[in-house]
Amino acid sequence: MEGLKEQLRKESKKAKLDFNELKSGGFIKQTQKDLFTVRLRCPGGKVNAEQMRKAGEIADKFGRGEIHISVRQSIEVPYVSYKDFDAVAESLREIGWAVSSCGPRLRVPTACAGCTYNPNGLTDTQGICAEVDKRYFGIETRHHKFKTSFSGCPIDCFRTREMDLGFQGVLEPKLIEDECNGCELCVKACDEGALKMDGELPVRDWDKCIHCGDCVKVCPVDAMVSNRIGWLARVGGKHGKHPYFSYEIANFLTDDQVYVLIEKTMSWYQENAVGRERIGAAIERLGLERYMNDVVDPLGLEAIRDQKDRRKYYAKGNFYDK
Ligand code: SF4
Ligand code: SF4
Ligand code: SF4
Repeated sequence: MEGLKEQLRKESKKAKLDFNELKSGGFIKQTQKDLFTVRLRCPGGKVNAEQMRKAGEIADKFGRGEIHISVRQSIEVPYVSYKDFDAVAESLREIGWAVSSCGPRLRVPTACAGCTYNPNGLTDTQGICAEVDKRYFGIETRHHKFKTSFSGCPIDCFRTREMDLGFQGVLEPKLIEDECNGCELCVKACDEGALKMDGELPVRDWDKCIHCGDCVKVCPVDAMVSNRIGWLARVGGKHGKHPYFSYEIANFLTDDQVYVLIEKTMSWYQENAVGRERIGAAIERLGLERYMNDVVDPLGLEAIRDQKDRRKYYAKGNFYDK
């Protein structure tokens, strides 16, 4: 480790390189002398065929013909010399593409396929992810990184619980009693045990319902329908050496409410965090109620405050006893 540090110090001096600055710009120093990994901007992990060809071309021309897919859906080209940065940037510009910034900024959002082609998907994760990237990518936080993610249903493949701000698709079911034939398929489909029969009709325990929509999907006569679809919002999560699970803060947000929540949360983070605190640490220090009062309530969102409305999203006996 000391050897690496010494090497980096010498290289930095010799080449007048600021490695933190380069990392912020999407060029990440490798252990090998003079070599960097170039991280390409891929919101929601979505790229077109032209971009895929370009990544391959850059890997062949400036790297070692290798590509790495990062855990946050970015395409990375390793083994690129800092001497080729300008040429790489120019090559990306030719097709209107760019590197992805790191550092204390709002990072490229991640997302699953969502409702566009995933049968479980309730919401358009890719659509909103692209819009969030367009509006907010690269905004400086003044403190630390800020990650967002979108999952299309409560299975939460994109780990919204581990994001600074995460959004998960939710569906509110509704029974049309006159259409129901009492077949009980919805009761059997509900893994949460939120439905049981009361005579000929299913009744729901809303304290158990996690808004997955399975009862709607299974109903053969459209007696169980969707009353509304939206986003469950979570704040304050992170992974790393000391991970935080996020707090559920509001339910059934519209797309527009997602945008204003991101904007207001970013402002709150910029103003209230200290040093290199992530927003989860700032909330820990100042109290969740302070964030709820400052951010969620003024936006008129459907706030989640009761712990039982948070706990139901977690495995029993596992986490969440705050
Ligand atoms: S979160 Fe839901 S919609 Fe998204 S990939 Fe996972 S199962 Fe599919
Ligand atoms: S939405 Fe999901 S959790 Fe709620 S009642 Fe239907 S199947 Fe059960
Ligand atoms: S699946 Fe549909 S028809 Fe069958 S009990 Fe449930 S709501 Fe009624």
